[in-house]
Amino acid sequence: MCKLCGFADHGHIVAPCPKCHVPQSELFSDKSLQDGIPFTSCVLSIFVDVSISGYPARDGERHRQLCYQYAALKTTKAREEFFKRHGVRWTEFARLKYFDLIRYTVIDPMHNLLLGVAKTQWYTQWIQTKTLRADTGLYHRELSFIHKFLASYEAPQWAGHLPLRVGEPAGGSLSADEYKFAVTGPWAIIVSPLNSRTLIPIVWERFLEEANQDYAKAKQNYNKIGRAKGESKPFPRMVEGEDENFLRFATALKIIVGRSIRLEKLPRIKSLLHKYLTTFSEIYGSSEMKPNHHWAVHVPDQLVDFGPVYNFWAFFTERLNKLLKNINSNNWTGGELEVSMMREFHRNGAVDSAVSPMIYLNCSNKYSQACRSYIKFFLRAKDHAHLSWKQNLFSSWLKEIPTQQCLERFRTLPNTVVCGIRIA
Ligand SMILES: [Zn+2]
Repeated sequence: MCKLCGFADHGHIVAPCPKCHVPQSELFSDKSLQDGIPFTSCVLSIFVDVSISGYPARDGERHRQLCYQYAALKTTKAREEFFKRHGVRWTEFARLKYFDLIRYTVIDPMHNLLLGVAKTQWYTQWIQTKTLRADTGLYHRELSFIHKFLASYEAPQWAGHLPLRVGEPAGGSLSADEYKFAVTGPWAIIVSPLNSRTLIPIVWERFLEEANQDYAKAKQNYNKIGRAKGESKPFPRMVEGEDENFLRFATALKIIVGRSIRLEKLPRIKSLLHKYLTTFSEIYGSSEMKPNHHWAVHVPDQLVDFGPVYNFWAFFTERLNKLLKNINSNNWTGGELEVSMMREFHRNGAVDSAVSPMIYLNCSNKYSQACRSYIKFFLRAKDHAHLSWKQNLFSSWLKEIPTQQCLERFRTLPNTVVCGIRIA
């Protein structure tokens, strides 16, 4: 989206953010993560004070002017220099007078908060650094402690679920939906019956002292031998306050991903995010921060512009990506791919249109016609094995009509093989 609207990427020295004028060197400073400069915005006739990061907002009209200035340059060298100075390139969207290039460039909450901030906290800071460790043969450690709690946690199916071995290679990498469920659900709301703390704080309460002892020993060894050998300096496996900080993010996320949201909640989200991000920087260092941490401060303002995240996050388009990805392309490349995908798309469409009326219509006279068109399609396709994945669809159709009636119809077509079932 950044490139589409003429912006530079996050590595640009002058303009790494499409929303504000923060330079690369200040991307994770306290000023860039803070509540920022308030200005009044009128959305749906509701006047609210919204704010961006501590740096001034970029202006849509100014960005459009820069786009036209870039397009007017004649040489590649001049354009490269202009891009270095302003972080702006030409975009065709600049022709649309109604299109505010700054405001309509969306920082996607799915990638930014779930696959960005949440993943960095869980996977980069806790799993990769072995803050949360898997069991050894002799000792139960942090992850098995979490697994034990998760095993007793029940959630409605629509809320989501986590792999049984979350955090271990056997659990695989978590999807955006699983991060949403984990951060706003079990990790933050499972409460121990022995105390009133929730799951992540319970883990810290149980293992922090052991981690501190390990760190003290490692420091002693480093001072005695390690330093002389040139070994790297030890760092604490767990730090006091990480759990509390995680709960700040979980609370902010819980409000942000709500299906409805009250504008009065925005200051609360901003202050939680600000506290979480600055504490993250204090605990792990600014070198551990990612561009997503800065971009997250702009998400609350998008809620004012576009409403709840369900209106504009990328789950819809990701679903379409999956659909396209699963269309068989026979590994074609170089111009053949499109034809192959189109053929597969057409074939799927033909199967669906033949099967759908059979699923939803129990009318016997239409049944006969639909059944024949289905069989004809299979005979024409001549690659029954390839279409065996339709078996589930076909099975659901069989459930909708009396089996005996179905088999009688198929008997009229000798030696027909449908979804691997030979009808005698
Ligand atoms: Zn910014």
